[in-house]
Amino acid sequence: MKNIIILGSTGSIGVQTLEVVEKLSDKFNIKALACGNNIELLKEQIKKFKPEFVCIKDKNKINDIKKEFNNIEIYYGEEGLIKLAQIPDYDILVSATNGIVSVRATLEAIKNKKTVALANKETLVMAGDIVIKEARKNNTDILPIDSEHSAILQCLGKINNPFAKRLWITASGGPFLNNTREEMKKFTVKEALNHPRWSMGKKITVDCATLVNKGLEVIEAHHLYDFDYENIKVVIHPQSIVHSFVEFNDGSFLAQMGVPSMHIPIQYALSYPNRFKGIKSDSFSPFNQKLEFFEPDYEKFPLLKLTIECGKEKGIMPAILNAANEAAVYKFLRGEISFLDIEKIVTKEIEKTNNIQDPGIDEIFEADRLIREKLA
Ligand code: MG
Repeated sequence: MKNIIILGSTGSIGVQTLEVVEKLSDKFNIKALACGNNIELLKEQIKKFKPEFVCIKDKNKINDIKKEFNNIEIYYGEEGLIKLAQIPDYDILVSATNGIVSVRATLEAIKNKKTVALANKETLVMAGDIVIKEARKNNTDILPIDSEHSAILQCLGKINNPFAKRLWITASGGPFLNNTREEMKKFTVKEALNHPRWSMGKKITVDCATLVNKGLEVIEAHHLYDFDYENIKVVIHPQSIVHSFVEFNDGSFLAQMGVPSMHIPIQYALSYPNRFKGIKSDSFSPFNQKLEFFEPDYEKFPLLKLTIECGKEKGIMPAILNAANEAAVYKFLRGEISFLDIEKIVTKEIEKTNNIQDPGIDEIFEADRLIREKLA
């Protein structure tokens, strides 16, 4: 029996992680749950999974939970997430919050020598060098909850495979794959949220439409698997059946296939290196599948290139890009700017930034804060 802590239990990944845990309740137990503001859903989760600890965003809501569940320990805020990560007796921390709130807690779990199942993008994008260094020092695994990085891990077989030569990260291409730049100017929020293959949160769905998401995944792959950027390729694959592939020294390519569902990468991160019968067993048939692969159009999607460039520059550049992009995406979602204004805002911020090499975690957070304040 493995004990699990979920940061972000009421979000899309958190809910699906609990579905996996429920299906495999003989193998996994919920030790603690943390969420933001969705207290009603959290209460349902507490009833069903009986955690010993929970953490919520707002201190004022603690009594609301205490009334119904009096023998549960309740923390709050970012400090509360850190306290959860420091609990001595658990096995896996699932880091699945949006944004930067769980970055320090995730680092704390690594220092506590716990396995991290990582869905949160900011952790490796903003602080990849620091996080990976800490993971190596403490000999802990960071297992990805993302279809592409999970596919790569499954093809590699182990995190460091000396015979692997290149990583090929697949991208569906998003809803605007076949549109011109002229057409993209007029795209509405509704159109950008109409992702052809995956159902996800709003922010990440817009990031799929700009292909920023794929650039961020290249940065994460660089950190997770220690590959140079030159040896990480993006390949457009509209069907989202192949979730990524690895090219080996001898010319062999190994790919991982399956239905586009987060249940599989979530379950693999929890069960690694084992495989269990789960929710999505028997969900895919290779018969009558058409698989296409194209080179991405970097001119049509300039943010893909810019995101990877920021990854190569290291320092605070990935954090600046991430913060500027997030602020711009929320402006777009609020109807304040057009779709193509997202890239204008991000590009302008990147051009104005003086990089800091080898920043500490506080410097990274400060760079992030300044951009968010400016673009709020
Ligand atoms: Mg992905």
